[in-house]
Amino acid sequence: MEADVIVIGAGSGGYAAALSLSKHGKKVILIESEKAGGVCLNSGCIPSKAFLYMASQYYNKENEKIGITCSSKIDLVKFQEWKYGIIQKTIDNILAGCKKAGVEYISGRASLMPGKRGKLDTGIEFSAENIILATGSVPRSIPGFTFDHSRILSNEDILAMTEVPLSICIIGGGAIGVEMATFLAKLGSKVTVVEALAKILPNTDDDVSRAVVRSLKELGISIHVNSMATCGETGPGGLQVHINTCPEDSLAFDKILIAVGRKANIEGLGLKDAGIEIDEAGFIRVNEKMGTSQPGIFAIGDVIGGAQLAHKATQDGLMVADTIMGIESDYSMLTPYVVYSDPEVASVGMTETEAKGIPGTIVKRYYFAALGKALAMNDTRGFVKIVAAENGQILGVHIVGHESSNLIGEALLAIEKKMTVKDLAKLMHPHPTLCEALGECARAFKD
Ligand SMILES: Cc1cc2nc3c(=O)[nH]c(=O)nc-3n(C[C@H](O)[C@H](O)[C@H](O)COP(=O)(O)OP(=O)(O)OC[C@H]3O[C@@H](n4cnc5c(N)ncnc54)[C@H](O)[C@@H]3O)c2cc1C
Repeated sequence: MEADVIVIGAGSGGYAAALSLSKHGKKVILIESEKAGGVCLNSGCIPSKAFLYMASQYYNKENEKIGITCSSKIDLVKFQEWKYGIIQKTIDNILAGCKKAGVEYISGRASLMPGKRGKLDTGIEFSAENIILATGSVPRSIPGFTFDHSRILSNEDILAMTEVPLSICIIGGGAIGVEMATFLAKLGSKVTVVEALAKILPNTDDDVSRAVVRSLKELGISIHVNSMATCGETGPGGLQVHINTCPEDSLAFDKILIAVGRKANIEGLGLKDAGIEIDEAGFIRVNEKMGTSQPGIFAIGDVIGGAQLAHKATQDGLMVADTIMGIESDYSMLTPYVVYSDPEVASVGMTETEAKGIPGTIVKRYYFAALGKALAMNDTRGFVKIVAAENGQILGVHIVGHESSNLIGEALLAIEKKMTVKDLAKLMHPHPTLCEALGECARAFKD
């Protein structure tokens, strides 16, 4: 097989690159060993948000304060049917999108050979002017905890579950651990989170992390930071886990979820044969334009490390497509972050701590408790925080609150377009909305 560009992996990154290249007249082959849509669609973003949605519908079933009392029960088999239905619909859309754009989609496992060549597990060889590696990532395990997929689980096992565990120890307090802790607790599981670093969501703003801890605790979740867990024997009460900061010798859990991060999915990819370097952390080493150590071979998305986010993988794919087509692309775009805790947190740009090194920076907060729409929705938790430079230019926005995932877009636009707090304050925000909080926070800065 020959093409202008061969893309290996049809996840968020690979699919975006393939489509963009094909629309611009390139002959593109997209190779996928599992299912189109990759981790995001099949075992990441979409199924986890479906779980979060279902769990909050269940958890909010009784809200006497606003005049609702009803009873409900969980049927995870039914839920899974619905979840797989929405995934399948999206897979069908991706495959139809490939067909429409003229991308040749091939099912198979690809590995590289020297030169810009490779082969499929069926033995068919391929070559191309350019190759894009978009093979994503897989869950990382830790010593002493080997995935057995029945009691020691990965995120994929949790997302496929048809029964709610009675109790679960989640090792890792990053985004995946926090999101899963949130929906498992809402579904009635007794959840404990163990995090080795000093705070939950280690990369977020301190205030944001504190707010998330508060909300997790309100759901009855126990949290241990600066802590290490070791796995013990299986006893009558379940799997024994020793947490070094706990007074008890060990605690028993029905299940353990390992959510300590993800490693590059490069096994069997033939990187060595193709002369492609990997970095110290095991990800494919790339330059600022995502070129690997071999000219004409690029790598994008989770497989290169950094922010392992679907929208970042998509952006990488679009930028590499531009590079291959000889179009100038902006590689300095900001990456927004969202964690779907309850309330959600969303962040873009500089944190307050990062801004401390810059003289004259100003930070203002506006609390949702003062906002009419938040009061009318009976959810006044959280705040908007804006970090601005001395001249008023917005450097960072951090939001904790209902639907903050949808509010962060405005902040992203404001920072990318180099707006000042004065510009943001002048915008006429619709009323009553949650986005008014951004305008109100901007107005808190002095003229
Ligand atoms: C539980 C969970 C929740 C998440 N939630 C979010 C979220 O809310 N928002 C967000 O932005 N991100 C989220 N992510 C992260 C997001 O899913 C990833 O960042 C994104 O999927 C990365 O896209 P990618 O294209 O790099 O790789 P992937 O989506 O992993 O796709 C890689 C594809 O390559 C295929 N492949 C691998 N090797 C080969 C080979 N040799 N030959 C052929 N095909 C191959 C794989 O089968 C896979 O389909 C979440 C992840 C998890 C695990």
